[in-house]
Amino acid sequence: MTNAIMQLPDRGIQQVNGAIDHYNTLVLFMQHSLRDGLDYGKIQGCGDKPILFKPGAEKIATLFGLRESLERLEAIKDWTGNDFGEPFFNFEYKCTLKNREGHIVAECVGSCNSWEEKYRYRTAQRVCPQCGAAAIKRSQYEDRQTGDKGWYCHSKSGGCNAKFRSDDPQITSQQQGKVPNERIFDQVNTIDKMSQKRAFVGSVILAANASNFFAVEHSEIQTIDADWEPQEDIGNAAHLERVPGGGEAARDQGQLNRDRIQLIIGRTEHTLAQVKQMADGKTADQLNDEEMQSLIDQLLIDWGRKRHHVSVQIARNLLDEIRSEQPRITDNNLILRFAQRCSEALSEQVPTQRKAATTVGGVSID
Ligand SMILES: [Zn+2]
Repeated sequence: MTNAIMQLPDRGIQQVNGAIDHYNTLVLFMQHSLRDGLDYGKIQGCGDKPILFKPGAEKIATLFGLRESLERLEAIKDWTGNDFGEPFFNFEYKCTLKNREGHIVAECVGSCNSWEEKYRYRTAQRVCPQCGAAAIKRSQYEDRQTGDKGWYCHSKSGGCNAKFRSDDPQITSQQQGKVPNERIFDQVNTIDKMSQKRAFVGSVILAANASNFFAVEHSEIQTIDADWEPQEDIGNAAHLERVPGGGEAARDQGQLNRDRIQLIIGRTEHTLAQVKQMADGKTADQLNDEEMQSLIDQLLIDWGRKRHHVSVQIARNLLDEIRSEQPRITDNNLILRFAQRCSEALSEQVPTQRKAATTVGGVSID
């Protein structure tokens, strides 16, 4: 395996490292920014892989700078059931994700219709003829006088304790279990929104190449399903080491520096003029490795100060800490770790900081 990589041409190594950076970014982001149960979670009947929820998909889209646009491909609304024998609603959307340069990086079609099990049916429960609570239970015990195992209205489920004979038609005539959902008209908007959500989440999974980590909620998105890898547990997903040496050393140092600077200022929102000033007027072609690292540190410290509100000293300490923990950390991961440590440092500071009262028109609104 190592030998095979060593024989790759420079460009091959760059591609491998690019993929590794992408993977590491995603892993780090999922471990530190996505919350189980809110951004993703396991759903009964959907296997072991967690499902990516819409909030998580939105965060990943932001991380990679992706913008979505939705196109409605189909909308069937048969309110009367004239066309389909019973009321039927079906929506289909295509979500297109573009990167910062405006290139399409993923497309995914999502749909949802009212004949899906969870919309078409509801689970009916027996209702108490006296109090109306859905709390009717079958008794475990025989009645002392009649020997009949009847029904009772369970008080702990909100019922009234009424008792009924086992053959009481008021109870036995009630439909039970899966019954048609007569309130489907309340859910048309939900079904429409659901199809948009599926298209969006599916396209984010495709764009971020995240299908190792997430299942999709719905079988419609077969393009992803086709080559799923075995599940990887997000919490234990390993960071991959970049392929060292050879390829990149041989690469034009100036170009390498330019790429690194572009990556950093894409996040820290510095201008090239600011970069040049921090680099003491040197151009990317003139910077050696040590000077590059110092430049990156300066950019991050400035970013930490402006964006994350940590002092220069704290930002400097955090960077030193991260670099000593992971001497070969990629710029990408350095940015993510740094941002995360800044917010941790800030939340530790909060109790000791005296915040000025927020006032509107002289009145405190705190
Ligand atoms: Zn009752």
